[in-house]
Amino acid sequence: MDSPQTATAAADPRYPDAALPGETDVVIVGGGIIGVSAALFLAEKGLRVCVCEKGRIAAEQSSRNWGWTRQMGRDPAEMPLAIESLAIWRQLKQRFGIEVGYRETGITYLCRNAREEEKAHGWAAIGKAHNLPQRTLGAREIAAFLPGAAGDFTFALHTSSDGRAEPSLAAPAIADAAARRGAVIATGCAVRGIETTNGRISAVVTEKGPIRCTAVIVAGGAWSRLFMGNLGISFPQLKVLSAAARVDDVQGMPDMPVGGGDFAFRRRLDGGFTIAPRNVNIAPLVPDSFRLLPDFLPAFLRTWRELRLRIGRRFFTELATPRRWAPDQPSPFESVRILDPAPPKTLNRKALAALGRAFPAFANARITQSWAGLIDVTPDEIPVIDAVDGWPGLYLASGFSGHGFGIGPGAGLLMSQLVSGDVPCVDPSPFRFSRFASSERALSANTALAAERG
Ligand SMILES: Cc1cc2nc3c(=O)[nH]c(=O)nc-3n(C[C@H](O)[C@H](O)[C@H](O)COP(=O)(O)OP(=O)(O)OC[C@H]3O[C@@H](n4cnc5c(N)ncnc54)[C@H](O)[C@@H]3O)c2cc1C
Repeated sequence: MDSPQTATAAADPRYPDAALPGETDVVIVGGGIIGVSAALFLAEKGLRVCVCEKGRIAAEQSSRNWGWTRQMGRDPAEMPLAIESLAIWRQLKQRFGIEVGYRETGITYLCRNAREEEKAHGWAAIGKAHNLPQRTLGAREIAAFLPGAAGDFTFALHTSSDGRAEPSLAAPAIADAAARRGAVIATGCAVRGIETTNGRISAVVTEKGPIRCTAVIVAGGAWSRLFMGNLGISFPQLKVLSAAARVDDVQGMPDMPVGGGDFAFRRRLDGGFTIAPRNVNIAPLVPDSFRLLPDFLPAFLRTWRELRLRIGRRFFTELATPRRWAPDQPSPFESVRILDPAPPKTLNRKALAALGRAFPAFANARITQSWAGLIDVTPDEIPVIDAVDGWPGLYLASGFSGHGFGIGPGAGLLMSQLVSGDVPCVDPSPFRFSRFASSERALSANTALAAERG
C-alpha cells in the first residue's frame, strides 16, 4: 500500500487523459477528500463537474492523515455531520463499488490521569447527547478489552460505530467513482483565479486555460486562504504541522485505532501500523500568524499545552509568496505542486517510545517511514462549508482543522446540496462563513475539547 505522495511531477499518472472542458457546471479547486467527495455527489445528481488539482489527487493532507473516522470527541456543532459522514463511509463500497479501506472497528481512548479522564468524560457526555454507541471502562475492564495494554490505564472511552479507513486509497477511489459518473479529474492543473460576469461567477482561469462555469467550490485545504485572499476575501486560516510514522511487524494488537495521552495507532490494511504523537502539534510562525493574531488568540490560549511554536524557513517562504497575482501570471500554486513538509523525527520517535510503554508489543518496533502534513485550522476549529456572500456562485469548503478525513464524505455531500439547492443533510449553519465577521465571532461551548485532531 502506498505512502503519502512526495513526487514533484505535476500531473497524476492515474488521470493522464483529462482534457479540460471548455464549459462545465461546477469547477472544484482542489482534489483532496473534500473536493472529490463534493464532485462525486454533484456528478451523481447529473451536474457537469471538473476537479482541478494543482498536483496529484490527495497528495496533501488527505493521504497523510492517520485514517481515523470518528464521531467521538467532535465538537457538538460538528457532530451531526460526523454522524452523517460515518453513514456514508459505511455505504461507499456497496453504493459506488469502491474500496476505501473502511472498517467499523470502533475507537478507544485510554486515560492515565485526572486531566485525561475529565476530557474523556466530557466527550462521553457529548456522545450520549447524540446517542453514540459508547461505553466506559475501568482499569480491570481495560485489561480484558485490550489485552496488549500496559496496566497503568485508569479509564477508557470506546465508541463502537467509529472506525478507520485507508488514506492512500480513499480520496483516489472517490475520485474514480466521480470520474465514472462523468466528472473530469484534471491534475497538474492549478486554478489561478476566477472571472465574473454581471457579478456572477462565469469562469475559472487555470494554468491550462479558462473553463466557463456557473459555480466554483474552493476546497484547497491549506491553500484556501491564499486563493480567497487574491479575490480580496479574508478567510482566517493557519497551518499546523502534524506528524505520523509507519511501523511493521508488530503482532497481537487490536484492529481498532487506539489513542492515549501521548500516542495514537491505527492498523493499516497492509498489516503495518500508522503511529503518531498525540496532543503535540507544531505551529510554524509565519506572517499570517501575526496578521491573524486577534482571530486565533483565543484558540492559542485554549490549546497552548499541545502547541509548539516554531520560527524557521517557512516564515521566509511565506513572506516571499506573492499574495496577489493576475490570472495571466503563474500563481504560487504552480510553484508548490505538493506541500510535503519535513517530518519532525524526534516527535515520531517519542511517539513510538510512548507507544512501547503503553503497548509493550511496540517496544522493539522500528519506524520504517516518517511523514508530516500541514493541517489547515480555523479560529474555532470548525470548517467553513458555505456560499460566499456577495459572490453568487462561489462556495468555500475548507478549514477542516484536523477532522476532514472522517467528515470528508459528509462535507462533500453537504457542499453538493448547497450548490444544487437540495435540502441539506444536516443544519449547515455551524459552518457558515459569516461567523468570522468580527461581530458574529463566537466560540462554541466545546472548544476546549474540539482542539483534538485525528
Ligand atoms: C498528520 C495528519 C493526521 C490527520 N489525521 C486525521 C484523522 O485521523 N482523521 C481525520 O478526520 N482527519 C485527520 N487529519 C485531517 C485531514 O487529513 C484533513 O482535514 C483533510 O484531509 C482535509 O481535506 P481537504 O480536501 O480539505 O484538503 P487537502 O487534502 O489538503 O486537499 C486540498 C487540495 O487542494 C489542492 N489545491 C490547493 N489550491 C489549489 C489551486 N489553486 N488549484 C488547484 N489545486 C489546489 C492541493 O494541492 C490539495 O491537493 C489529519 C491531517 C494530518 C496532516
